[in-house]
Amino acid sequence: MNRLSSEELIHHDRTAVWHAFSQMAEYDGLIIEQGEGCWLTDIRGRRYLDGASSLWCNLFGHRVPEIDTAIRNQLDQVAHVTNLGMSHPSTITLAKRLIDRTPRNLQHVFFSGDGASAVEVAMKLAFQYWQQCDRPQPHRTKFIALGDAYHGDTIGTVSVSGVSRFQSSFAPLLFDVLRGPCPDAYRTPQGMNARDACEHYLEAYRRLLEQHAAETVALIVEPMIQGAAGFVCQPKGFMQGIAKLCKEFCVLLIADEVAVGMGRTGRMWALEHDCTDEMSIEPDLLCIGKGLTGGYLAMSATLASTPIWNAFLGTHASARTFFHGHTYGGNPLASAAANAVLDLLEQRFAMPFVQQRGEMLGDFLEPLRALPIVGDVRRHGMMAAIELVADRDTKRPFAWEDRIGGRVCAWTTEHGVWLRPLGNVIPILPPLSMGDDDLRLLCETVGQAIRHVQA
Ligand SMILES: *Cc1c(COP(=O)(O)O)cnc(C)c1O
Repeated sequence: MNRLSSEELIHHDRTAVWHAFSQMAEYDGLIIEQGEGCWLTDIRGRRYLDGASSLWCNLFGHRVPEIDTAIRNQLDQVAHVTNLGMSHPSTITLAKRLIDRTPRNLQHVFFSGDGASAVEVAMKLAFQYWQQCDRPQPHRTKFIALGDAYHGDTIGTVSVSGVSRFQSSFAPLLFDVLRGPCPDAYRTPQGMNARDACEHYLEAYRRLLEQHAAETVALIVEPMIQGAAGFVCQPKGFMQGIAKLCKEFCVLLIADEVAVGMGRTGRMWALEHDCTDEMSIEPDLLCIGKGLTGGYLAMSATLASTPIWNAFLGTHASARTFFHGHTYGGNPLASAAANAVLDLLEQRFAMPFVQQRGEMLGDFLEPLRALPIVGDVRRHGMMAAIELVADRDTKRPFAWEDRIGGRVCAWTTEHGVWLRPLGNVIPILPPLSMGDDDLRLLCETVGQAIRHVQA
């Protein structure tokens, strides 16, 4: 295979590679040749600090010795074993370890290759559960989802998502969803305080359940922070309230922790932020992705409770099987990477360490609050975001056409800090391993970029 020249690479990257969520007529992306720690180097030799963890999945930086070694060792055994009628010790070990580290009721793991598939699996499991449980209720066919939710880009997950820009082209293909409000601790209804807002939102979900519980399969929620919606944070108590409502109305709860899970928020699972001594939160299904392999390999998982598992048991002839699978589900190389990730989260990057890194990040972000167009700085652990607003008092957003976030991130990238905007919101998700100096550089560069754009 001939090595392409830099000019050829740039050309083919614009014409041969169809990039995700990108307008290819205007495409001008980076071509990264190497990564080392929190830094990426492109084919021109320019270096960029990875401020978005290669889109929210790279937990400990690049070329992590422990993960590299785990994958190499696995390569010496076998790269792939199908999940259909076969298994591998790395996959089994990973399943057991995930079960040990998730809410107690979750005892079974279905592996897929990406976050959307993990969510789709959860939805199909929940749907089929009601047909096969002890007292079947096959008339349950609806899902309840949150306003502005994002759960992936397959037709099923787009249906439960509530981001109109991603949905409108496909509207005729999507199924109907019962949609509640977007719980938002920043833009609360009529400027309510957080506690009243929480009650207000929960009341809306209660009404939805009062009317529709009998036809509802499950309520799907991304706990604590709706990432793709713009890192919209839920008021404290909302997740716990939702979990209670699902129990009360006998509706399954699906927690999508694809973005917020795996230690990103300073807790292994974001829903733990809303647990108390009296009340833990036990979703019936939990979806994991992104950070699962530390940003190395495509893998996701759906964890299920035992009542759900039991509803699928029977003879071959009973056809209670879950007829669903992905070619690379449970792939041993990815499993080996994920096992190394779990080791790291227990040792060098245990949650108290991540919380302390998060506080450091919070300290460096604090001065940005003073900038006139910064409306809000939100953070849970190492998952933070800055929302830029046209008017701080009314919280009026910038118009989409202003591309305000895009301009800020273009400026930081030009100055050696790679970030990717979500509309008017600048997500800041450094690898959990980022040191003080790089964290400071990251935040200061964002501050300079905002000053530049606001001038
Ligand atoms: C990224 C994401 C997904 C989809 O994951 P993919 O691996 O991109 O398919 C689903 N849900 C949430 C909350 C996400 O952030």
